[in-house]
Amino acid sequence: MNILILGSGGREHALAWKIAASPLTEKLYCAPGNAGIAREAECVSLDASDHAAVIAFCKDRDIGLVVVGPEAPLCAGIVDDLEAAGINAFGPTRWAARLEGSKGFTKDLCKANNIPTAAYRRFKGADAAKDYVREHGAPIVVKADGLAAGKGVVVAGTIEEAEAAIDMMFDGGLGERAWEIVIEDCLVGEEASFFALCDGDTALPMASAQDHKRVGDGDTGPNTGGMGAYSPAPIMTPEMSQRVMDEIVLPTVAALKKAGAPYKGVLYAGLMITKDGPQLIEYNVRFGDPECQVLMLRMMSDLVPAMVAACDGQLKSFNLRWVQETALTVVMATKGYPGSYGKGSVIEGLDEAAKIEGVEIFHAGTKADGDHILANGGRVLNVCALGKTVREAQARAYEAIDRINWPEGFCRRDIGWQAVARES
Ligand code: AMP
Repeated sequence: MNILILGSGGREHALAWKIAASPLTEKLYCAPGNAGIAREAECVSLDASDHAAVIAFCKDRDIGLVVVGPEAPLCAGIVDDLEAAGINAFGPTRWAARLEGSKGFTKDLCKANNIPTAAYRRFKGADAAKDYVREHGAPIVVKADGLAAGKGVVVAGTIEEAEAAIDMMFDGGLGERAWEIVIEDCLVGEEASFFALCDGDTALPMASAQDHKRVGDGDTGPNTGGMGAYSPAPIMTPEMSQRVMDEIVLPTVAALKKAGAPYKGVLYAGLMITKDGPQLIEYNVRFGDPECQVLMLRMMSDLVPAMVAACDGQLKSFNLRWVQETALTVVMATKGYPGSYGKGSVIEGLDEAAKIEGVEIFHAGTKADGDHILANGGRVLNVCALGKTVREAQARAYEAIDRINWPEGFCRRDIGWQAVARES
């Protein structure tokens, strides 16, 4: 069949790489794509927020499956509109995408279904929120209700910090004024991400991962979209993964089905593994970036029939196979990221870097200029590697990075450090 991927980052390059390898894929398109994706798919300039244009393109090119990468089009209801036009789309409907689009919605759903998550309260005004914070004490976590591109959460160590976060959110510090916030208890433990494929009725576990959000070595400096990741997460033993399925993922899928909004697509659970077991921190309604890159590297099964089965409600009879090695990815970013940065610097040595055993390089923000590859964003490359151990995957990824000549770029040199420490 012909397939269209929506998105332009490293996540979409990894999806394009995997989907292009499927014997079921006849012609692959990506909108808008990037210079790396252009090797796997035909990149087309389509605006994902223009649903009518996407539908017209799908009809014109006989697209049998649309794979939606990022959360914004999902929350805007692109899957609803594609399905109404008779086009198969991988991802949740607008209603089900509220699992990511509204933290208050997700917290209420957890509470109603006994899904373990931090105790919380929802607030529409600053005064009541501050009263609650003073009464409760710190540490405490303040979250804006809507999508905030990863910036809507403040883990406050003091009451003053929490009050400042409340004012910042209600005063428009995140771009728009928050109309509602969630305040919740601070969880203590180790974080991990867990991914499951859902078909509205049931869920199939995929794999786990851990990421590094801070920009600097030793997990210091400001938060970013993610500077690296690895899969599997050592803390997610088979027993822990089963608990996450039984206590968190499957009850969520059942609750949404019962509410008349079955969840289809990939469900990404952000978890805190506490001494009492797994707790849900948040849901995302799409693959993580850069977690998707390491998942795709480890996935042995064909992704396309799995996505089609998720759309068709046929996952029950499915099973997915995974390479039992570790995959690790290091993000290379333009100097200045996550603050302001320039565009257009030349990147060389990519072919030499990709020759290292087990290495795959996905493009996150690049542009082609003749034979040159230019940086075209903050996060620019994902240098990924498989290895028998985390240490081996890490060594291969950094060996590849050392072959890349890009003076305007930088990366963290310690991705995977906790897992390496655990290994030794
Ligand atoms: P979220 O966007 O909800 O995933 O939150 C971003 C980050 O904030 C998480 O990855 C955690 O590191 C932290 N965080 C969020 N909620 C909590 C919580 N209840 N307790 C401790 N840390 C949290």
